[in-house]
Amino acid sequence: MKEIILCKYGEIVLKGLNRGSFESVLMKNVRRRLRSLGQFSLRSGQSTLYVEPLDESIDMDEVFERCSKIYGIAKLCRAIGSEKNVESVFAVICERFSDILSAKKTFKVAVKRSDKSFPMTSPELAAQLGGMILSKFHHLKVDLFEPEVTVICEIRDEGAFVHDVAVDGAGGIPVGTSGRGLLLLSGGIDSPVAGCMMAKRGVELSAIHFEAPPYTSERALMKVERLAEKMSEYCGRIQFYTVPFTKIQEEIRNRCPEDYFTLIMRRLMMEIAQRIAERDGYLALCTGESLGQVASQTMAAMVTTDAVCRIPVFRPCIGLDKKEIIDIAYKLGTFEISIEPYEDCCTVFTPRHPRTKPALADVEKAQAMADFEPMIKEAVENTRVKTVGGY
Ligand code: ATP
Ligand code: MG
Repeated sequence: MKEIILCKYGEIVLKGLNRGSFESVLMKNVRRRLRSLGQFSLRSGQSTLYVEPLDESIDMDEVFERCSKIYGIAKLCRAIGSEKNVESVFAVICERFSDILSAKKTFKVAVKRSDKSFPMTSPELAAQLGGMILSKFHHLKVDLFEPEVTVICEIRDEGAFVHDVAVDGAGGIPVGTSGRGLLLLSGGIDSPVAGCMMAKRGVELSAIHFEAPPYTSERALMKVERLAEKMSEYCGRIQFYTVPFTKIQEEIRNRCPEDYFTLIMRRLMMEIAQRIAERDGYLALCTGESLGQVASQTMAAMVTTDAVCRIPVFRPCIGLDKKEIIDIAYKLGTFEISIEPYEDCCTVFTPRHPRTKPALADVEKAQAMADFEPMIKEAVENTRVKTVGGY
């Protein structure tokens, strides 16, 4: 009994004339994601990507798990193919569902007929298959509203498929259909969530991390890399930039007024990130900021950071509560890594009384107390980059 995974498209089906290019990006992503598991035949038809293993030994649990993390897929299910006639479909149902049908008391059959040339209507076929199941499993009763088992039969152009209820996929649109973005990735909970939210909207993501050794450790950097690796299960492989930020932070501490430390630091992070973005072809920056979460994330504080930005800054967590962000982090699998207790350069020199309603002119004046330009250039030049994540 050979399984095939049916991946049902989400928003792609609304894409009109562009639909073909969205489908081909999705197919490319699925192919890359599954490559290390074996050979597959991938076909697109009737708003579905058919993922068929070409080798019996392929671990289909793992295939399913991986497909469930690919953006652009709204629903997915593990199906068994059959010829398009009642007897073959019934034989497949018996094989696939006999254990569970024997163990449960109620069931229903649902039929979806997208091949309109099939001679029976959906209700007719459902009734006939239901009757055949009842005559084989005498203890069962039909329950159309709250069945313990739902047997689904799809009659499609390319064949009949039998499966149980489809599960939700990752949703969104395929990574690579919305341009390239550069995520400011800390070791915290919010920025990995922000990055995945952008990837879900099709952004091909790279990450930039600011380190401040010896104030931040090698192990703190490794943690952020592991976060990026975890994210790559959803986002695809990530170019990971590491910026040496120690000198700049020391200069801020030595020369600028303490109340403005964090704001100046954030402005300089944005400046460095966007120089790299402009150099390497990223169209936008992305951060994990959420309005009002901390002093540097008030609206007035964001005005002072945005003032140095020449390209758009996306903040997808802006309207989310911490609890909502944590729920997403938990689902993505980044939460456990994020809560490991390592230092971040942001927390190295934190002011005792950070300004929550800073005026832009005051921040600019405070920043002008040092000449950061040569250090910005040096930091950009000394930024290292590596590829993280296998797909
Ligand atoms: P997170 O949970 O993502 O760390 P946070 O709530 O702790 O966010 P901040 O530390 O104020 O917030 O940082 C705000 C945003 O700035 C982060 O979401 C991230 O995008 C960026 N950021 C902070 N520290 C760094 C860093 N060391 N390297 C790169 N980006 C950073
Ligand atoms: Mg942080």
